[in-house]
Amino acid sequence: MDFSRTKALFDLPEGVIYLDGNSLGAMPRGVPERVEALLREEWAAQLIRGWNACGWMDMPARLGDRVGRLIGAAPGSVVMGDTLSVKVHQALAAALPMRPDRRVILSDSGNFPSDLYMAQGLAGLLGQGHEIRTPDPQDVEAAITDEVAVLMLTEVDYRTGRRHEMARLTAKAHAHGALTIWDLAHSAGAVPVDLAAVDADFAVGCTYKYLNGGPGAPAFIYVAPRLVDAVEATLSGWLGHAEPFAFAPDYAPAPGVGRMRVGTPPVLALAALEVALDIWDEVDMGALRAASVALSERFIAGVEARCAGVTLASPRDATLRGSQVSFRHPQGYAVMQALIAEGVIGDFRQPDIMRFGFTPLYLDAGDIDRAVDILADILATGRWDRPAFHARKAVT
Ligand SMILES: *Cc1c(COP(=O)(O)O)cnc(C)c1O
Repeated sequence: MDFSRTKALFDLPEGVIYLDGNSLGAMPRGVPERVEALLREEWAAQLIRGWNACGWMDMPARLGDRVGRLIGAAPGSVVMGDTLSVKVHQALAAALPMRPDRRVILSDSGNFPSDLYMAQGLAGLLGQGHEIRTPDPQDVEAAITDEVAVLMLTEVDYRTGRRHEMARLTAKAHAHGALTIWDLAHSAGAVPVDLAAVDADFAVGCTYKYLNGGPGAPAFIYVAPRLVDAVEATLSGWLGHAEPFAFAPDYAPAPGVGRMRVGTPPVLALAALEVALDIWDEVDMGALRAASVALSERFIAGVEARCAGVTLASPRDATLRGSQVSFRHPQGYAVMQALIAEGVIGDFRQPDIMRFGFTPLYLDAGDIDRAVDILADILATGRWDRPAFHARKAVT
């Protein structure tokens, strides 16, 4: 697969090496044109007729199928909408009543806080005494017992890039009668995922990270086809109804994953995502993974050879990593600000982690080598140690 061709499809500022596509993907060049066409030719010209004439109403299912191809989900098992935090709530609210005699939600201490917050909020709302257990990631497997109702994990750790073994953990959860919810925020578009093959129950993820859907792009949710008709949708909005335009007083779920829709689809955001998916439709995830590993290994080797004072925070074994590499440095925040000032954009996570994301669609070996050169120089000269680089911004 020729990734120089995909690189040309992205609009990146001159002189910037963008190593933060794990947090917010770059913009495909076709987005402004598509969004403008939607505004002028569809919204302005068609007005409310657009819902039928322009296929707006089907976008959550249509785009869901295209995301589904990247994560091993059969057509009709993924739907788009809302934000990832809301999709975590929906998946958990669907799964817990399927294990009515159990009270343990098992996650891990490395999970993204919003997933844990959503579980805490739902447990409080249910008022049934659910307990959320968060062992360290390496201890999760041993913590899967017959008490567990739901195993809720993020496959790739947002701080370190450590990757859980989805197939093995899912099989163990099932052997103990538990359901699984996999958060694919740092997996979709980053690593090959095969939800059908691992027999996952629920999966959720966002599309503004590796998938390049744009800031605030809608999330996705997957429900295994063998389960979906037993799912009670608790966020039972009208667009998850079997017949929204019957305007019946009582809720009746749509067949299949359509019941996980809530309200009116975010059409403008979906249109931007659609352009990104045009690129993804051509991508072979095996080839992407090989390119991601090569870029990550090149970065680790370069940094370790040339940069003093940093230590690898990610697993050294590439098979245990997602598509990001993290290094610790006691002054990681200031070092990252200095890097950003010189055009190498990564980000920082508490307490001392510098994160670098690898997105082969728009990064190549030359970018990695230049990023290493600049980091090595910033550390060697100490020019990160300026007051401006120590001042904390609201979004890190
Ligand atoms: C990025 C991320 C989120 C963010 O959720 P939003 O509702 O989209 O803001 C949630 N969970 C995980 C694991 C993430 O990586």
